[in-house]
Amino acid sequence: ASVFENVSGAPADVIFALTAAYKADTDPKKVNLGVGAYRTEDGKPWVLPVVHKADHIMVDDDNLDHEYLPILGLENFRKASAKLILGENSKAIAEGRVGAAQCISGTGAVYTGASFLAKHYPFKNAACYISKPTWANHRAIFEGVGIPVLEYPYWDAETKGLDLKGMLGAMEAAPSGSIFLLHPCAHNPTGVDPTPDQWKQIADVMEARGHFTFFDTAYQGFASGSLDKDAYSVRYFVERGFEMFIAQSFSKNFGLYSERAGNLTIVAKTPEIKNTIESQIAKAQRAVISNPPAYGSRVVSLVLNDETLYKEWEENLSSMANRIIAMRQALFDELVALGTPGTWHHIVDQIGMFSFTGLSTPQVKVLKEKYHCYLTDNGRISMAGLNTKNVKYFAAAVDDVVR
Ligand code: PMP
Repeated sequence: ASVFENVSGAPADVIFALTAAYKADTDPKKVNLGVGAYRTEDGKPWVLPVVHKADHIMVDDDNLDHEYLPILGLENFRKASAKLILGENSKAIAEGRVGAAQCISGTGAVYTGASFLAKHYPFKNAACYISKPTWANHRAIFEGVGIPVLEYPYWDAETKGLDLKGMLGAMEAAPSGSIFLLHPCAHNPTGVDPTPDQWKQIADVMEARGHFTFFDTAYQGFASGSLDKDAYSVRYFVERGFEMFIAQSFSKNFGLYSERAGNLTIVAKTPEIKNTIESQIAKAQRAVISNPPAYGSRVVSLVLNDETLYKEWEENLSSMANRIIAMRQALFDELVALGTPGTWHHIVDQIGMFSFTGLSTPQVKVLKEKYHCYLTDNGRISMAGLNTKNVKYFAAAVDDVVR
């Protein structure tokens, strides 16, 4: 008999299963709106030209070897990542109270911050509050390290916008010292972000209640096309003196999905506390991955630390952001032209990779089975899956399912 006889199987990951179903579909009209990965106008993955350049620089560099990186990763990458999110003239960086740990992409950065909190956060039994809805891995990661997870209202189905009142109410009601997971920009899955005035109100309550801020940013530069604009909320919180963790992913904004390039930026009150946190993270990281992979962080570091490459990266970023914004407009225009029942303004108002369409699970089922359009059951579509050749087809399919 097997010692594992009584282990029950786990369900397959929803997003990865959706991609598999799309791949298996032989209909030429099929549309993949599931996974959050950028696609070109031809529906193909895109190696950013600046990344292609960095690839070649690395191949030609005879001084590069395959030695281990330090436990906390590539120094130039960590520094540049922190500067990217906090800004060129960050006071916190100048004061020496910003730390960083290279992690296994954004997922690893959230995990690393969460496991530090599980062990060292002084408010015992503090819960982590995540937005309703949020990226499914947030719950899985925090529960996985033993932190209880609760939700705060976020999406207002009525207005198809932000439920600010509900969000602030939950922050008021949560026990002092709770952990709040916030998306700085391009909220996944809704594409709805607070305005600067709303961020102020959020910060006021977070401060008054003594909550801990955990930002998770996977789309800096990808949302508006501007790296600074997309970092607004984080920099605003730092300016106000919050202590915080910021998980950063370079999967989307560098197109480095498989290279697992990510960083956990730590903004502490003092350089000493920053050092203590880094030392504990290094100790924990040693026992999980020993040290992070070099390739993706080298690409990012090359680009972030070179003025010419950086400029080129910004252009690459805007071209992705602009294509997505254009597809929002195209989808909206098609639906309006068809006179599709309902309001569709939210599609152009939302930002980033995703649109939360408001389509119901049964409608999604018809889109999948009758029209070969693949999207998650909650009605989220990855805008990158649309292009000028399929947007008309998708709009007509939506029009049919909502009638
Ligand atoms: N956080 C959010 C909100 C995300 O949407 C993603 C990507 N889907 C991530 C983190 C991390 O992704 P990765 O580990 O691929 O960098």
